[in-house]
Amino acid sequence: MTAARPAPPVAAMEGRAPGAGGRGAAVLLDLDKTLVNVEDHVDYCRALREARAVAGTAAQVVVPRTHWARCALEAMRLLVALAGERDRWRLASDIIERYELAGAAASAPMSGLGGFLAALEGRRRAVVTLLGPRATEAVLRRHGIRADLVVARDPARRIKPHPDQVEAALALLGVRPEEAVMVGDSEWDEAAARAAGVPFIGLSLGRRRHGFGAGSLVVRDLEEAATVLRGGG
Ligand SMILES: [Mg+2]
Repeated sequence: MTAARPAPPVAAMEGRAPGAGGRGAAVLLDLDKTLVNVEDHVDYCRALREARAVAGTAAQVVVPRTHWARCALEAMRLLVALAGERDRWRLASDIIERYELAGAAASAPMSGLGGFLAALEGRRRAVVTLLGPRATEAVLRRHGIRADLVVARDPARRIKPHPDQVEAALALLGVRPEEAVMVGDSEWDEAAARAAGVPFIGLSLGRRRHGFGAGSLVVRDLEEAATVLRGGG
Protein backbone atom coordinates (compact mmCIF):
# COMPACT_ATOMS: atom_id res chain seq x y z
CA MET A 1 0.00 0.00 0.00
CA THR A 2 1.28 3.46 -0.78
CA ALA A 3 0.70 6.47 1.40
CA ALA A 4 -2.61 8.20 0.88
CA ARG A 5 -2.50 11.04 -1.58
CA PRO A 6 -5.15 13.28 -3.04
CA ALA A 7 -7.23 11.83 -5.82
CA PRO A 8 -6.32 13.37 -9.16
CA PRO A 9 -8.83 15.66 -10.79
CA VAL A 10 -10.83 14.06 -13.55
CA ALA A 11 -9.10 16.21 -16.10
CA ALA A 12 -5.79 14.64 -15.13
CA MET A 13 -6.97 11.25 -16.24
CA GLU A 14 -6.69 10.28 -19.85
CA GLY A 15 -9.74 9.52 -21.93
CA ARG A 16 -13.24 8.57 -20.99
CA ALA A 17 -14.93 5.23 -20.60
CA PRO A 18 -18.72 5.30 -20.96
CA GLY A 19 -20.30 3.70 -17.95
CA ALA A 20 -17.09 3.78 -15.98
CA GLY A 21 -18.15 6.62 -13.71
CA GLY A 22 -19.65 4.52 -10.95
CA ARG A 23 -22.57 3.21 -12.95
CA GLY A 24 -21.42 -0.24 -13.96
CA ALA A 25 -23.50 -3.02 -12.42
CA ALA A 26 -20.66 -5.47 -12.75
CA VAL A 27 -16.91 -5.07 -12.70
CA LEU A 28 -14.68 -7.45 -14.64
CA LEU A 29 -11.20 -7.62 -13.20
CA ASP A 30 -7.95 -8.77 -14.66
CA LEU A 31 -5.84 -10.39 -11.93
CA ASP A 32 -2.11 -10.34 -12.69
CA LYS A 33 -0.58 -6.89 -12.20
CA THR A 34 -4.05 -5.46 -11.82
CA LEU A 35 -4.99 -6.80 -8.37
CA VAL A 36 -1.89 -8.87 -7.55
CA ASN A 37 1.62 -9.03 -8.95
CA VAL A 38 2.10 -12.67 -9.86
CA GLU A 39 4.20 -12.34 -13.01
CA ASP A 40 7.32 -11.08 -11.25
CA HIS A 41 7.33 -14.22 -9.12
CA VAL A 42 6.86 -16.72 -11.95
CA ASP A 43 9.79 -18.15 -13.93
CA TYR A 44 8.02 -17.83 -17.27
CA CYS A 45 11.28 -18.39 -19.16
CA ARG A 46 11.68 -21.90 -17.77
CA ALA A 47 7.96 -22.48 -18.14
CA LEU A 48 8.10 -21.43 -21.79
CA ARG A 49 11.11 -23.62 -22.57
CA GLU A 50 9.48 -26.63 -20.97
CA ALA A 51 6.10 -25.96 -22.59
CA ARG A 52 7.69 -25.68 -26.03
CA ALA A 53 9.69 -28.87 -25.47
CA VAL A 54 6.59 -30.84 -24.54
CA ALA A 55 3.82 -29.22 -26.57
CA GLY A 56 5.89 -28.05 -29.51
CA THR A 57 6.08 -24.65 -31.04
CA ALA A 58 3.30 -22.90 -32.88
CA ALA A 59 2.95 -20.42 -35.68
CA GLN A 60 3.50 -16.86 -34.54
CA VAL A 61 0.28 -14.99 -33.96
CA VAL A 62 -0.12 -11.26 -33.77
CA VAL A 63 -0.99 -10.08 -30.27
CA PRO A 64 -1.10 -6.60 -28.73
CA ARG A 65 2.16 -5.17 -27.48
CA THR A 66 2.19 -4.82 -23.74
CA HIS A 67 4.50 -4.30 -20.81
CA TRP A 68 5.04 -7.86 -19.61
CA ALA A 69 8.50 -9.38 -19.61
CA ARG A 70 9.35 -11.21 -22.84
CA CYS A 71 8.96 -14.78 -21.57
CA ALA A 72 5.58 -14.07 -19.97
CA LEU A 73 4.40 -12.55 -23.23
CA GLU A 74 5.72 -15.47 -25.26
CA ALA A 75 4.18 -18.03 -22.93
CA MET A 76 0.77 -16.41 -23.32
CA ARG A 77 1.33 -15.99 -27.05
CA LEU A 78 2.01 -19.72 -27.29
CA LEU A 79 -1.34 -20.45 -25.66
CA VAL A 80 -3.10 -18.03 -28.00
CA ALA A 81 -1.45 -19.75 -30.94
CA LEU A 82 -2.45 -23.22 -29.74
CA ALA A 83 -6.15 -22.34 -29.52
CA GLY A 84 -8.09 -25.05 -31.29
CA GLU A 85 -5.45 -27.70 -30.59
CA ARG A 86 -6.86 -28.77 -27.29
CA ASP A 87 -4.40 -31.52 -26.39
CA ARG A 88 -1.32 -29.44 -27.08
CA TRP A 89 -2.91 -26.43 -25.44
CA ARG A 90 -3.58 -28.41 -22.28
CA LEU A 91 -0.03 -29.78 -22.20
CA ALA A 92 1.44 -26.31 -22.48
CA SER A 93 -1.04 -24.74 -20.08
CA ASP A 94 -0.48 -27.37 -17.40
CA ILE A 95 3.29 -26.87 -17.53
CA ILE A 96 2.98 -23.10 -17.38
CA GLU A 97 0.52 -23.37 -14.51
CA ARG A 98 2.99 -25.37 -12.41
CA TYR A 99 5.26 -22.34 -12.49
CA GLU A 100 2.35 -19.98 -11.89
CA LEU A 101 1.37 -21.96 -8.82
CA ALA A 102 4.89 -21.68 -7.49
CA GLY A 103 4.81 -17.94 -8.12
CA ALA A 104 1.39 -17.56 -6.54
CA ALA A 105 2.88 -18.43 -3.17
CA ALA A 106 5.10 -15.34 -3.36
CA SER A 107 2.66 -13.02 -5.15
CA ALA A 108 2.18 -9.52 -3.79
CA PRO A 109 -0.85 -7.21 -3.78
CA MET A 110 -0.79 -4.25 -6.12
CA SER A 111 -0.72 -0.86 -4.48
CA GLY A 112 -4.18 0.30 -3.43
CA LEU A 113 -5.80 -3.14 -3.55
CA GLY A 114 -7.70 -2.85 -0.25
CA GLY A 115 -9.29 0.50 -1.07
CA PHE A 116 -10.09 -0.63 -4.57
CA LEU A 117 -11.91 -3.75 -3.38
CA ALA A 118 -13.83 -1.62 -0.88
CA ALA A 119 -14.93 0.63 -3.75
CA LEU A 120 -16.46 -2.40 -5.46
CA GLU A 121 -18.86 -3.13 -2.62
CA GLY A 122 -22.39 -3.59 -3.92
CA ARG A 123 -21.31 -4.57 -7.39
CA ARG A 124 -20.95 -7.97 -8.85
CA ARG A 125 -17.37 -8.78 -9.66
CA ALA A 126 -15.76 -11.30 -11.96
CA VAL A 127 -12.08 -12.10 -12.24
CA VAL A 128 -11.17 -12.63 -15.89
CA THR A 129 -7.60 -13.81 -16.04
CA LEU A 130 -4.97 -15.44 -18.22
CA LEU A 131 -3.71 -17.41 -15.24
CA GLY A 132 -4.64 -21.06 -14.95
CA PRO A 133 -7.58 -21.93 -12.68
CA ARG A 134 -5.55 -23.49 -9.86
CA ALA A 135 -3.08 -20.63 -9.79
CA THR A 136 -5.96 -18.15 -9.85
CA GLU A 137 -7.63 -19.83 -6.90
CA ALA A 138 -4.34 -19.85 -4.98
CA VAL A 139 -3.78 -16.14 -5.62
CA LEU A 140 -7.33 -15.15 -4.67
CA ARG A 141 -7.16 -17.22 -1.48
CA ARG A 142 -3.74 -15.87 -0.51
CA HIS A 143 -4.93 -12.28 -0.81
CA GLY A 144 -8.48 -12.75 0.47
CA ILE A 145 -10.04 -11.53 -2.76
CA ARG A 146 -13.70 -12.46 -3.15
CA ALA A 147 -15.25 -12.82 -6.57
CA ASP A 148 -18.75 -13.73 -7.69
CA LEU A 149 -17.26 -15.42 -10.71
CA VAL A 150 -13.85 -16.52 -11.93
CA VAL A 151 -13.09 -17.01 -15.61
CA ALA A 152 -9.56 -18.35 -15.74
CA ARG A 153 -7.85 -19.71 -18.83
CA ASP A 154 -9.55 -22.81 -20.08
CA PRO A 155 -9.22 -24.90 -23.23
CA ALA A 156 -12.91 -24.42 -23.93
CA ARG A 157 -12.52 -20.78 -24.90
CA ARG A 158 -9.95 -18.56 -26.52
CA ILE A 159 -8.03 -16.49 -24.02
CA LYS A 160 -7.56 -12.74 -24.01
CA PRO A 161 -6.92 -10.75 -26.19
CA HIS A 162 -9.88 -12.56 -27.74
CA PRO A 163 -13.23 -11.54 -26.25
CA ASP A 164 -14.35 -15.07 -25.26
CA GLN A 165 -13.47 -14.88 -21.57
CA VAL A 166 -15.12 -11.47 -21.21
CA GLU A 167 -18.20 -12.63 -23.06
CA ALA A 168 -18.40 -15.70 -20.83
CA ALA A 169 -18.25 -13.50 -17.74
CA LEU A 170 -21.05 -11.29 -19.05
CA ALA A 171 -23.23 -14.29 -19.86
CA LEU A 172 -22.64 -15.96 -16.51
CA LEU A 173 -23.30 -12.74 -14.60
CA GLY A 174 -26.33 -12.01 -16.76
CA VAL A 175 -25.32 -8.45 -17.62
CA ARG A 176 -25.06 -6.62 -20.92
CA PRO A 177 -21.68 -5.25 -22.05
CA GLU A 178 -22.71 -1.66 -21.39
CA GLU A 179 -23.72 -2.57 -17.84
CA ALA A 180 -20.20 -3.70 -17.03
CA VAL A 181 -16.77 -2.16 -16.88
CA MET A 182 -13.46 -3.95 -17.09
CA VAL A 183 -10.29 -2.96 -15.25
CA GLY A 184 -6.90 -4.22 -16.42
CA ASP A 185 -3.23 -3.34 -16.73
CA SER A 186 -2.66 -4.71 -20.18
CA GLU A 187 -3.47 -3.95 -23.77
CA TRP A 188 -4.59 -7.59 -23.97
CA ASP A 189 -7.33 -6.82 -21.44
CA GLU A 190 -8.35 -3.76 -23.39
CA ALA A 191 -8.53 -5.67 -26.66
CA ALA A 192 -10.73 -8.34 -25.08
CA ALA A 193 -13.02 -5.80 -23.42
CA ARG A 194 -13.31 -3.72 -26.55
CA ALA A 195 -14.12 -6.72 -28.73
CA ALA A 196 -16.86 -7.66 -26.25
CA GLY A 197 -18.23 -4.11 -26.14
CA VAL A 198 -17.30 -3.52 -22.48
CA PRO A 199 -15.99 -0.10 -21.34
CA PHE A 200 -12.39 -0.32 -20.16
CA ILE A 201 -10.31 1.31 -17.47
CA GLY A 202 -6.59 0.80 -18.09
CA LEU A 203 -3.96 0.98 -15.36
CA SER A 204 -0.86 2.66 -16.73
CA LEU A 205 1.18 1.70 -13.64
CA GLY A 206 3.30 4.74 -14.35
CA ARG A 207 4.10 3.85 -17.93
CA ARG A 208 4.58 6.97 -19.99
CA ARG A 209 3.96 5.02 -23.15
CA HIS A 210 1.16 2.55 -23.35
CA GLY A 211 -1.02 1.26 -26.12
CA PHE A 212 -4.41 1.96 -24.56
CA GLY A 213 -6.76 3.53 -27.06
CA ALA A 214 -8.64 6.80 -26.93
CA GLY A 215 -11.87 4.98 -26.08
CA SER A 216 -10.51 3.79 -22.75
CA LEU A 217 -10.15 5.62 -19.48
CA VAL A 218 -6.52 5.45 -18.38
CA VAL A 219 -5.64 5.85 -14.73
CA ARG A 220 -2.37 5.35 -12.94
CA ASP A 221 -3.26 2.65 -10.46
CA LEU A 222 -5.94 1.03 -8.33
CA GLU A 223 -6.29 4.13 -6.16
CA GLU A 224 -7.32 6.19 -9.16
CA ALA A 225 -9.50 3.39 -10.48
CA ALA A 226 -11.30 3.29 -7.12
CA THR A 227 -11.97 7.01 -7.36
CA VAL A 228 -13.52 6.52 -10.78
CA LEU A 229 -15.65 3.59 -9.66
CA ARG A 230 -16.88 5.52 -6.63
CA GLY A 231 -18.19 8.07 -9.09
CA GLY A 232 -15.58 10.69 -8.33
CA GLY A 233 -13.85 10.56 -11.64
MG1 LIG B 1 -2.69 -8.27 -16.10
